[in-house]
Amino acid sequence: AIKVKSLRKNFSMGKQTVEVLKGLSFEVESGEFLSVMGPSGCGKSTLLYLLGGLDEVTFGEISLHGKDLTTMKEKDISLLRRRDIGFVFQFYNLVPNLTVEDNIMLPLILDGKKGKKQKARLEELLEITGLKDYRKHTPRELSGGQQQRVAIARALIFEPKILLLDEPTGNLDSKTTVEIMELFKTIHLELKTTIIQVTHSKETAAYGTKILELNDGVIVRETRIERKAS
Ligand code: ATP
Ligand code: MG
Repeated sequence: AIKVKSLRKNFSMGKQTVEVLKGLSFEVESGEFLSVMGPSGCGKSTLLYLLGGLDEVTFGEISLHGKDLTTMKEKDISLLRRRDIGFVFQFYNLVPNLTVEDNIMLPLILDGKKGKKQKARLEELLEITGLKDYRKHTPRELSGGQQQRVAIARALIFEPKILLLDEPTGNLDSKTTVEIMELFKTIHLELKTTIIQVTHSKETAAYGTKILELNDGVIVRETRIERKAS
């Protein structure tokens, strides 16, 4: 489970301090699919970056599976970031001159790991993302939706327990958005990954099992969703 307690985040610019997150407390159980909504600038991305150990907490606690991120050494955080947390953003950030499979394997290669087990994982991810026929393609030969699938597979290569998504369909048309959201649903159900997604859209948020609404740095509503069995 992920436990967030009295989380605050300030940004200082010169003499000015901006309070972006003003004391958030919530929990995400393992296997949950949380959607974070709220108006532009309310701190959604900021929250996601803190959860992923990409930025420093000003005050409060974030515990990931019992480990307090806010007191961890940078070395341990970077290990956690690399192996236990997957990120997917609005823009795919693929390496243009690498093939689909090399883009997906890149985190492993950078980590000095590329064995049998990893090869099997790659095949599983190509299957689940529907990219089998595109493995030797480069990103520029793919549609936006396909490129996002590559980014999703790459985020999952280490079998992370947690997947953090920042408007993963923000750059896609509505048909492709549905396809990508269905993929996240499959990942959630089949790989049992805990997912936290930031989104502007109610339709997209409805893929979650719980919706957290932020406004002006605080939680204004928490709604549990009864998802139809599928
Ligand atoms: P959007 O829906 O537009 O993506 P958001 O909810 O994700 O918005 P954040 O990106 O979290 O909003 O930003 C929240 C506030 O924090 C904004 O006012 C932004 O200007 C400020 N902010 C974010 N990052 C920084 C930073 N590194 N330095 C200073 N201010 C920042
Ligand atoms: Mg944002």
